[in-house]
Amino acid sequence: QLSKRLLRLISYIPAHAKTLSDIGSDHAYLPCYAYQKGLISQAVAGEVNEGPYQSALRTVQSLGLEKVISVRLGDGLKVIKRGETDVVVIAGMGGSLIRKILDEGSDKLTSETTLILQPNVASDTVRDWLSSHGWSIFNEDILEEDGHIYEMLAAHQTAEPIQLTEIERLMGPYLIKKKDKVFEKKWRMELHKIENIIQSLSNTEQTDDIVQKKQQFIKKAEIIE
Ligand code: SAM
Repeated sequence: QLSKRLLRLISYIPAHAKTLSDIGSDHAYLPCYAYQKGLISQAVAGEVNEGPYQSALRTVQSLGLEKVISVRLGDGLKVIKRGETDVVVIAGMGGSLIRKILDEGSDKLTSETTLILQPNVASDTVRDWLSSHGWSIFNEDILEEDGHIYEMLAAHQTAEPIQLTEIERLMGPYLIKKKDKVFEKKWRMELHKIENIIQSLSNTEQTDDIVQKKQQFIKKAEIIE
């Protein structure tokens, strides 16, 4: 059985989708499962590192899916052609890396592409990239599994991309509305961390740099509150 996190990501695959790329696929569980459940008919599992690439190959071979799941070694979206798949999944990495992969490979994405993204940290940097590149988020979730809190989102290009407010960018436009218990937990913890930082910055010499940093954290704490 797949993890709760990967199952939720799979639930975002649109009904009309036939093909999917999983970039940074590691073991290739997600594309294999999506295929076995009949959600897609073909997939690409992309990996930049040799170890996870071999692991993806092993999973695909052990399930006899070589003809439908193409395992490719390469950096980010370089492993696919423009518009090759209906869905592109990038999950289990930091927000900055996801943003970099999207930015460097944006020519591979089309108005038909659905993006399914799961940043481990810094989701705001991913939302920021999406909203400044014509993408609109159409679903988001947050869940806790094995002591980790995961945020995930799905997006597509729209003629008039939905502009996000500062709070929506930070916390997620749908997550704010859903008000999940895990969402509250995450932001309570985050606020606590920031308050500790503000406290320790107050205890150091008040140079211009420190004062400026403190102001930034105070502003963030106010937003979270
Ligand atoms: N996507 C899977 C998941 O969510 O369970 C695996 C996540 S794993 C923690 C992150 C994977 O991304 C690693 O296997 C790593 O090798 C791969 N990766 C990191 N940077 C990458 C890049 N630029 N292009 C492709 N894969 C990358």
